[in-house]
Amino acid sequence: MTAFDLFVIGGGSGGVRAARIAARNGARVGLAEQDRIGGTCVIRGCVPKKLMAFAARFRDEFEDSVAFGWSPAEHGFDWRALSDSLDREVDRLNAAYRRGLESAGVTIFPGRAVIDGPGQVRLVGTDSRFEAKNILIATGSHPNVVRDLPGLERAITSEAMFRLDTLPDRILVVGAGFVAIEFASIMAGFGVATTLLHRGGEILRTFDNDIRAEMHSAMERRGIEIILEDQLKVIDKGPARLLARTEAGRSIAADQVLLAIGRSPNTRGIGLEEVGVDIDPDGAVRVDGHSQSSVPGIYAIGDVTNRINLTPVAIREGHSLADHLFAGATTMVDHRNVPHAVFGIPEIGTVGLTEETARDQYPALDIFQTSFPSMRHQFAGRDENVLLKLIVDADTDRLLGCHILGSNAAELVQLVAIAVRMGATKGDLDATMALHPTVAEELVTMREPKKRYRRAAAE
Ligand code: FAD
Repeated sequence: MTAFDLFVIGGGSGGVRAARIAARNGARVGLAEQDRIGGTCVIRGCVPKKLMAFAARFRDEFEDSVAFGWSPAEHGFDWRALSDSLDREVDRLNAAYRRGLESAGVTIFPGRAVIDGPGQVRLVGTDSRFEAKNILIATGSHPNVVRDLPGLERAITSEAMFRLDTLPDRILVVGAGFVAIEFASIMAGFGVATTLLHRGGEILRTFDNDIRAEMHSAMERRGIEIILEDQLKVIDKGPARLLARTEAGRSIAADQVLLAIGRSPNTRGIGLEEVGVDIDPDGAVRVDGHSQSSVPGIYAIGDVTNRINLTPVAIREGHSLADHLFAGATTMVDHRNVPHAVFGIPEIGTVGLTEETARDQYPALDIFQTSFPSMRHQFAGRDENVLLKLIVDADTDRLLGCHILGSNAAELVQLVAIAVRMGATKGDLDATMALHPTVAEELVTMREPKKRYRRAAAE
């Protein structure tokens, strides 16, 4: 029986990185992938989604160009042409990931792998069994659906958004997390009549409240209908389109109904319970700071641990584990101040605490905030504001959070994240010279807090 130092189950963002670094550190590494190497991010997530968002934003460019002297031009959009280009790009990345693993010396096994006992891995449907000193669960997550929803078979999840043969005329997006907001924005950008349905009181639950409200109105100004505090009851087939009926009695006609209602870890049916791995009530593998599960020799990283479900986090966890196991590293991944974006139209970038979470944790806060039309949008006559917000600990002057809505917000926040991590103060921002004329200069020129919170000292 072949023996490995590390057997990785799942060739997505985290698994690929862990396997490659472990092999470079001298370990004998096997990796099983049941689908395509690259995982959610590369094949059916971040990458094709962001490329779609780029495509959807051209509508604004064409419209705004007229104010800058360009003649109005006829623009057609060809969904098939975009899909074909996306497929080619995904193929290219898939091949590059595979090459990276192979050149590092990782043995790749196509197929579904399960744990078959302590230190044992089996490939389902084959006679292949392996011994592994260490097993890494990097199986990611899958989109949630409402199992008992009548007409569920008529709905799709994010994975099918990348395989649509034709662009729908009308789409209903159910959900209000970042994936729902991104696809609603993208579809509306392509001219699809878009409705967003969410059972909660506002979109983007974990984001700063001002950002949520501004995004809500920006999406509505772009023609997206947002329905809150209502939920899907049944998806019927109407004469021409699907008819989504809601608890509150609405009937929404759509060619596609996209369920974007969160994701759950892939922990079922892979032998975890059988070997005693602790799974939390949300179905995630419980791990310690070095990503070790409750069973020594079995580790888990990325979405399957449901810590922070983002690609760079999965990659960092995988890299860190490979260095810990095979290069003696002791540093743990720091899960604080992870920047996060919503690649909607407009875009959101965020890092650190929101005003609401900061209020729970700090007795004295200054909130700096400004909202204005960018120079470009003002000139083009586009009704859209940039929102910049800084959360500052008034006792230490430290920057606790930064939230931006507007073009290139994600790029800006990646840079602000460095300052937040380094412990920058509001004074550091004030002392930084502005770069004019930019949107981002407002980050270093806001002087008066919009709000001050001072918690009364306990008697
Ligand atoms: P995955 O990348 O999902 O990889 C898991 C792999 O394991 C899969 O390839 C799966 O086929 C395989 N697998 C599962 N079970 C088995 C088994 N038993 N045997 C063999 N193989 C198995 N994150 C960002 O940072 N930025 C974004 O913009 C962003 N956009 C997203 C957009 C969408 C639509 C979605 C759905 C997610 C997005 N994410 C984004 C999240 C990001 O994709 C995930 O956090 C990331 O892919 C997690 O990596 P992972 O290695 O944990 O899992």
